[in-house]
Amino acid sequence: MSLEINNISKLFGNNKALDSISFKANPGDIVGILGPNGAGKSTMMKIITGYYNQTNGSIKVCGKDTLENRIETQRKIGYLSEENPLYPEMYVREFLEFICDIHKLEYDNCDEIIELTTLKSVESQKIKTLSKGFQQRVGIAQALIHNPELIVLDEPTSGLDPKQLIQIRKIITSIGKDKTILLSSHIIQEVEAICNRIIIINNGEIIANKKTKDFKNKIEEKFLELIK
Ligand code: ADP
Ligand code: MG
Repeated sequence: MSLEINNISKLFGNNKALDSISFKANPGDIVGILGPNGAGKSTMMKIITGYYNQTNGSIKVCGKDTLENRIETQRKIGYLSEENPLYPEMYVREFLEFICDIHKLEYDNCDEIIELTTLKSVESQKIKTLSKGFQQRVGIAQALIHNPELIVLDEPTSGLDPKQLIQIRKIITSIGKDKTILLSSHIIQEVEAICNRIIIINNGEIIANKKTKDFKNKIEEKFLELIK
């Protein structure tokens, strides 16, 4: 089991952003976290990756409790946050080498990841000169460079044009074979196309958790019915 979430709640003052959420995910799972804006998707991802602590509950990554083994579990996670924070003045390759330094990795890892995320043509370009699609790919590259078991992508395809969307989909599907991927979106068709499991979250609660095929092409209907 790569990820085990047990009764996670998160309070921001009086606002309950997450209300006793539980689910599990295994290698090979590409889990779509679907929910309207403000549902709690990013909060959940920030708790899994260690940017926030939960108010209640526990999380295990590869069998280890995240609060008790923060650094060890974070090493097993790759994270692309919603904001995709990059250094705009850095060159693509320079930035990825910097990420290698952080992880104490050889720079060979850059070549591999540049190929996977098809960044070769822009590796000598400054990040600020790249289109949104390329910038997202740089964000995905930094999340994957240390070969993590669990990959957490917060709205990785938001704001992309159709061609860029297809490219990102391809990358996610290719890495998803032996890793566990969590991917959030508020676009139903998007998660349906990429994910083999879909979790619908609304007002901080999980209201559905099923294999994509078990929704029988009725995700849109189900979604609207559930979030009413
Ligand atoms: P989503 O990613 O699904 O759009 P979020 O996880 O960002 O939703 O937000 C869930 C709820 O938690 C919202 O009500 C939001 O206002 C609140 N929230 C998120 N982050 C913070 C924060 N740092 N401080 C206070 N409230 C927050
Ligand atoms: Mg969000």
